[in-house]
Amino acid sequence: MAQRVFSGVQPTADSIHIGNYLGAVKGMLRLQEECECIYSVVDYHAITVPYEPARLPGRVLSVATDYLAAGLDPNKSALMVQSDVPEHVELAWLLGVAVPVAKLRQLPTYKDKRARTGNTNVGLLCYPLLMAADILIYKAELVPVGRDQLPHIEITREIARLFNNTFGETFPEPQGRVNAAAVVPGLDGGGAMSKSVPGSFIALSDPPEEIRQKLSRAVTDPARQRRRDPGEPARCNIYTIHGFYTPEATCQALAQGCRAGEIGCLECKRTLADEMIADLAPLQARRAELLAHPDTVRDVLREGARRVRPLAQVTVAEVRAKMGLVGVARTT
Ligand code: SF4
Repeated sequence: MAQRVFSGVQPTADSIHIGNYLGAVKGMLRLQEECECIYSVVDYHAITVPYEPARLPGRVLSVATDYLAAGLDPNKSALMVQSDVPEHVELAWLLGVAVPVAKLRQLPTYKDKRARTGNTNVGLLCYPLLMAADILIYKAELVPVGRDQLPHIEITREIARLFNNTFGETFPEPQGRVNAAAVVPGLDGGGAMSKSVPGSFIALSDPPEEIRQKLSRAVTDPARQRRRDPGEPARCNIYTIHGFYTPEATCQALAQGCRAGEIGCLECKRTLADEMIADLAPLQARRAELLAHPDTVRDVLREGARRVRPLAQVTVAEVRAKMGLVGVARTT
């Protein structure tokens, strides 16, 4: 039997960025050829940080459009919105009974988000429970992730173990499938490209001029103050991003020119912009076509939820039974 795969993306921006695309979505698209894949726009997660309710539906639709434009085939994979299968939330609540508060409080993602946003809502604390529920509710065996997200899968495995130990064997422990392609670094010179760090990312929806502008402002090797200063590509996020778009021979020539102080950073960035814009053009054309027909995307999402909700309901019924929530009123 084909392995079951789950992956979610948050609609916290109007489009996913190239880091999501290269780090996760491309790997997901390969998996749909050999596995039973469930992909979700996880809107319940998106509301744990400050957001504008009026913009959320548009963002959900836009991110779903990104997935389809990137090549997700709704005949092979289910694409759905998390809140269309509300059993995710019920399972998160039920899992929470087996998980100590201290476990959630000590997680680096909670500490990090709390420090960055000043946000201390209960939803943020319980985020890992919902993330585990998203995966465990379908008893998914594989979760495609970027390497930096592997700790998230480990938390889910731990929550599955805690539940199994308390209420009996119920959930398989999912495995993270790392897409060898990528952690795509941010344009701000820091770590991975991130939607929550303004100026660090390029969205799939960014038009060519915006891509050029964002790249022109990107941080490079700090040793290169002037064009003739020798640089080191290994210290430069732009050079790492070249690796995803630019032919090897061109990369080598750029690295040589950088080390010898013979090319300027703007020229190097222009080359990257040209390669990236050409690479994204077919995807952006499909995206524009889908945006012109949003009902097509809505139909895909409706059908996705219709297909997977019965699976979620079966799991929740099993968990309720194991926890003694047997519907006494219904049986008397
Ligand atoms: Fe980075 Fe290119 Fe500038 Fe070198 S020339 S520091 S690789 S942007």
